[in-house]
Amino acid sequence: MRLTPEQAEFASAVREFAETEIKPVIGDYYERGTFPVDLVRELGKLGVFGVTLPEEYGGADAGLLMLCLALEEIGRVDSSVAVTVEAAVTLGAEALSRFGTDEQRRRWLPRLAAGEGLCAFALTEPSGGTDAGHTDTRARLEDGQWVIDGAKCFITNAGTEMTDLIVATATTGPGEVSTIAVEPGTPGLEIGPEYSKVGWRASDTRPIYFDGCRVPEENLIGERGKGFAQFLDLLDHGRVALAALSTGMAQGCLDEALAHSKEREAFGKPIAENQSIAFMLADMRLRAHTARLAYLDAAEAADRGEPFGTEAAIAKLHASQAAVENAREATQIFGGYGFMNETPVARAWRDCKVLEIGEGTNEVQRMLIARSLGV
Ligand SMILES: Cc1cc2nc3c(=O)[nH]c(=O)nc-3n(C[C@H](O)[C@H](O)[C@H](O)COP(=O)(O)OP(=O)(O)OC[C@H]3O[C@@H](n4cnc5c(N)ncnc54)[C@H](O)[C@@H]3O)c2cc1C
Repeated sequence: MRLTPEQAEFASAVREFAETEIKPVIGDYYERGTFPVDLVRELGKLGVFGVTLPEEYGGADAGLLMLCLALEEIGRVDSSVAVTVEAAVTLGAEALSRFGTDEQRRRWLPRLAAGEGLCAFALTEPSGGTDAGHTDTRARLEDGQWVIDGAKCFITNAGTEMTDLIVATATTGPGEVSTIAVEPGTPGLEIGPEYSKVGWRASDTRPIYFDGCRVPEENLIGERGKGFAQFLDLLDHGRVALAALSTGMAQGCLDEALAHSKEREAFGKPIAENQSIAFMLADMRLRAHTARLAYLDAAEAADRGEPFGTEAAIAKLHASQAAVENAREATQIFGGYGFMNETPVARAWRDCKVLEIGEGTNEVQRMLIARSLGV
């Protein structure tokens, strides 16, 4: 696919930022397990958080594909920062943009579009994420307020100093799931400590707890009882975005492994001159290329307003597997250095596993693809 001049220019600006601003410093944040608030703020100034959001609220209304291009470029260098953007936009801000009232959009979207604030999307619960329609968190209406009780876990962007809003699903009646916005600092909302994670160590992931947490009735996002349909729709978009991030990781691993294999010598010649290494590189190129085609196909269908759920599942499944395989082979090509945390491919190796788990596990993607085949 040939990018338009506007798309190519945006992708190139994000690549430049990733190379010059993120790459030199992210390893340090990662090792310390610290959220890179300054980097994320600077990224906001590039317009990355507003790409898909409406122009009247400070966004660019440029579509999912444009966001995906940015996520691939960021993911190529670091996926902690990329997932911060992905979760904030495709799940968080888009929940307001797609389903919120004008008043909710006016109130929250301008800061989210500018990357001054972040939005978290809280669906997963301690009792299970795959069966997301089963929501133990409850919300009841009392004196014009929603009173929320329950717990969510593994929530990205829940506790950063930039977090403006948490959009959470809750059961509001028998068989009825709804989506409700809760601002940090609301009494009865407790944001738990950061998890100690294997990967994505520079992203913010926390449990959250609601204990008689009261928010105004107007914080209901969209119609009461439509929460299930809303999060299915958001997850379709999120899967395409995660596929773009995964493609970036697959490509980044190839870039690093190719450069290393041309430089590193064994038995008097660069290791790239061994067919076993060259074939690994060829396979890595193949995976990055086909992963890119898959997410572009799904994003284009979404932007055309066509059904794209199956394409999203295919893209997410394929690109996450491409990232896992490329991270594994890149680590192999780096030899012992590949097992050292200072090496970027080691970070990718730790980060890639979660790509098979988030936005619906890869078992879920296979179920969706099988369902599209009528089985
Ligand atoms: C770093 C990180 C960030 C995250 N960020 C967010 C976030 O911002 N918001 C959010 O809401 N969630 C988030 N999650 C949660 C994530 O979406 C869930 O972990 C995921 O959906 C899986 O849910 P689970 O962990 O409860 O696993 P389970 O649902 O317990 O599944 C366990 C295993 O069983 C398999 N399984 C379950 N049911 C079936 C079935 N019917 N058929 C076949 N296999 C099945 C699954 O595929 C999986 O392999 C995040 C997770 C992580 C690790």
